[in-house]
Amino acid sequence: MEEPLPIRILIHGASGRMGRALLRLVGERPELQLVAAVSRSGQPLAEAPAGVPVLPVDRLAEAPDFDLAIDFSLPEAFAPLVAACRAKGAGLVSGTTGLSEAQVAAMDEASELVPVLWSANFSVGVAVLRALVHQAAAALPGWDADIVESHHVHKKDAPSGTALSLGQAVEQGRGSAPHYASLRCGDIVGEHLVQLTGAGERLELVHRASNRDIFARGALEAAVRLSGRGPGRYDFGELLLAGGRS
Ligand code: NAD
Repeated sequence: MEEPLPIRILIHGASGRMGRALLRLVGERPELQLVAAVSRSGQPLAEAPAGVPVLPVDRLAEAPDFDLAIDFSLPEAFAPLVAACRAKGAGLVSGTTGLSEAQVAAMDEASELVPVLWSANFSVGVAVLRALVHQAAAALPGWDADIVESHHVHKKDAPSGTALSLGQAVEQGRGSAPHYASLRCGDIVGEHLVQLTGAGERLELVHRASNRDIFARGALEAAVRLSGRGPGRYDFGELLLAGGRS
């Protein structure tokens, strides 16, 4: 039987913390072939495999053809990337948080033409946490609900995208939104505490990420599973449960 063709990948936001992790780890997935990396400046990157061009963002249109873009950048970089995916007929896996309503609308529009998977958090543990939070909030509708998230000092958006998606699970469970608190300290990769407080007792559900490689590996897994699918918006948790190409 013939081997399937490798999935041609472009990494967008390649010079960032997540982009560098992706460049380092993409070689773990033989299904994926990195064809280009894009960063704001296009400066050479030590993590980029030999022969892979690193393009500045204003030369994105010159990138070789790709099947999927994996994006961990900043909201201001989002519109040109979505346009490039549409132009190339390529899918999009994005973990960029802090997107505006207009940027989310552009992503929805693109998903009528290409497959799109956006997730606030590509860790498997957080996918499970979201389900547990939904269950707990539904069982304890009268309790106070609070989400405390902690991240490194460089993180720009607050509350984090993950906190907001956990908040959505709380709201779906009990019909009202939680309160949020955000801490920015040191080099914390990401911690999320969901606290449900009743009279005389408190339930705490917590996830701690100690290494951002988990998000990069999750996004690479998402790319493999998204490949070959039709246009539409896809959910990371559902795609994991559905099985797929890997
Ligand atoms: P970072 O600041 O280290 O890197 C940002 C990258 O975006 C850099 O490569 C920079 O060159 C690029 N960039 C900035 N402005 C640009 C522009 N106008 N055009 C093109 N590229 C531009 O950030 P990071 O820690 O790597 O995180 C990136 C994003 O991913 C953030 O939104 C963060 O919240 C999110 N994130 C998501 C997950 C997840 O699992 N979904 C996990 C970690 C981080």
